[in-house]
Amino acid sequence: RNFEAFNLSDEISRALGVLKYKTPTEVQSVVIPRAMESQDLVVTSQTGSGKTAAFGLPICEKIQWEEKLPQALILTPTRELAVQVRDDMTNFGRFKRIKAVALYGKEPFAKQKEELTQKTHVVVGTPGRVLDHLERDTLVLDDIKYLILDEADEMLNMGFITKVEKIIKKLPSDRVTMVFSATMPNKVETLCQKYMNNPMNIEI
Ligand code: AMP
Repeated sequence: RNFEAFNLSDEISRALGVLKYKTPTEVQSVVIPRAMESQDLVVTSQTGSGKTAAFGLPICEKIQWEEKLPQALILTPTRELAVQVRDDMTNFGRFKRIKAVALYGKEPFAKQKEELTQKTHVVVGTPGRVLDHLERDTLVLDDIKYLILDEADEMLNMGFITKVEKIIKKLPSDRVTMVFSATMPNKVETLCQKYMNNPMNIEI
């Protein structure tokens, strides 16, 4: 199987060429076609399995450049992962001029606030800082069509559950939700049952 099987647009295919991604990884083969059909997914897979492109390529494919408000929200447990995912999304979406912003603590709030006044398609961030921006109205998530919880087990281990739930409650319910986790503890399963729409379980 190769990426052509997914009928990706020219812009996204060209980005894959620049990145030298030739063959989809296992998680990408399973997730990409289902995500393109807007199926909610709970994916158990290790880091390093290529999960970022598994959710990132379908999101970049579906993003509408003209829309004024952010269309995808990706929550991560750490600043390092937020920056990595922001960079990956920028690379996948380069020929669509997709703008991704990373929001995390220990960087001046005002700098991020200024960044958010520009057109933003994808927001990647840690729960604390994303919630700060939401509560101070510097971030509007009324048009979110994709929610990704990346490394969900780590995020809940770090005590982010209340913040994650507060954020989810502010999102449109008409959206696609995908949860990625290396392990599936009860806390993650409960969250999925509460906030997802008939999710399909995938174990890689
Ligand atoms: P991830 O699990 O998303 O952090 O990806 C792990 C590493 O694999 C990253 O360095 C990616 O750039 C790389 N990668 C992901 N998918 C592919 C692919 N289909 N072909 C080649 N490299 C890939």
